[in-house]
Amino acid sequence: MAPALQNVDHLLDADSQVKMRLLDDTYKLDNVNNNTDVKRDTHDKVNGDLDFDIVKYEAMEFRPQIRWPDLIVQVFLHCVTMYGFYLMLTIQVKFLTTLFVFATIYTSGFGITAGVHRLWSHRAYSARLPLRILLALLFTITGQRDIYTWALDHRVHHKYSETVADPHDINRGFWFAHIGWLVLTPHPAVENRRIALRKSSLDLMHDPVVRLQKKYFIPLFLLLNVILPVAIPVHFWQETLLNSFVVSFVTRFTITLNIAFCVNSFAHIWGNKPYDRFIKSVENKMVSLAALGEGWHNYHHVFPWDYRTSELGRLNLSTNFINFFAKIGWAYDLKAATPSMIVNKANRSGDGSLGTMEEPDPSILHIQAIRINDKS
Ligand SMILES: [Zn+2]
Ligand SMILES: [Zn+2]
Repeated sequence: MAPALQNVDHLLDADSQVKMRLLDDTYKLDNVNNNTDVKRDTHDKVNGDLDFDIVKYEAMEFRPQIRWPDLIVQVFLHCVTMYGFYLMLTIQVKFLTTLFVFATIYTSGFGITAGVHRLWSHRAYSARLPLRILLALLFTITGQRDIYTWALDHRVHHKYSETVADPHDINRGFWFAHIGWLVLTPHPAVENRRIALRKSSLDLMHDPVVRLQKKYFIPLFLLLNVILPVAIPVHFWQETLLNSFVVSFVTRFTITLNIAFCVNSFAHIWGNKPYDRFIKSVENKMVSLAALGEGWHNYHHVFPWDYRTSELGRLNLSTNFINFFAKIGWAYDLKAATPSMIVNKANRSGDGSLGTMEEPDPSILHIQAIRINDKS
């Protein structure tokens, strides 16, 4: 355990009454080396970066190629989804099917937010086996590749954010960050760092749930993302097979994909930056609403190991989800930043919008009073 960790295991969060470990400024995750932004920290080389010269890669001339099979799949998904919306809006599919689609989107979404993101990518909390199995099943319903590949890419995104080594580098524009990165060949720097982080991400494959989900991904994908979602409306309320395929597989799958894409695009462009105005990720309420709390992205890039991905008081259903499982003992060791750490960071590098957002923390008023006294 890092010596900087405060001994506050018994502190209770006032809102959730869930045990959290509050971590201070100097805390670094020992086993997950995914929280250091190399762009702003080039003089302080982190483990495994000694052989990586990002300047060389940034100077390199690179022309991405279109990956035609991936592009064709995405065009097919989005065209069929347009037809799916038409069927839903003109009530040509049964109401129960539409209800089932959105219920599935927002249930399986926790597999991304609380699962592959906060648990496996960031190790922001720990989960017992039943919860890990549940999260792996929910994540597989979304069809967004296997846990290992997703988490690895996400670690690369955080560590090399806004550089050529970022898989969905926002500097290449909205469309590249949203979907372009999935249909274009990756920058050599991304490939280099994916290989490098495989070596430092051994914790992922140590989890048997991650190993099994990766090994049986294709049959699990077919069963949980295609066969069951299509079969359930047909079997239980006699939806037509074609409608069920269009709406309950393709449209649902594509909507979930786009909600996740919005975190990479919208939440890196439009919103405010209460914690760090020098990075591009922002606080975006609409994305948070759609993505179960994942749009508070300025906070998340500053404190990626905080299981809440936002301050308390922000709408964050995934935090409520984890809190529920903490109460029944399936989630534990929830890591969170202290209020003073958050306010100090906001005062040092925020855009000044923290005090104007939601209810101010009393400690913010205290810090602001000190700053006023400093000026006088
Ligand atoms: Zn991001
Ligand atoms: Zn993250």
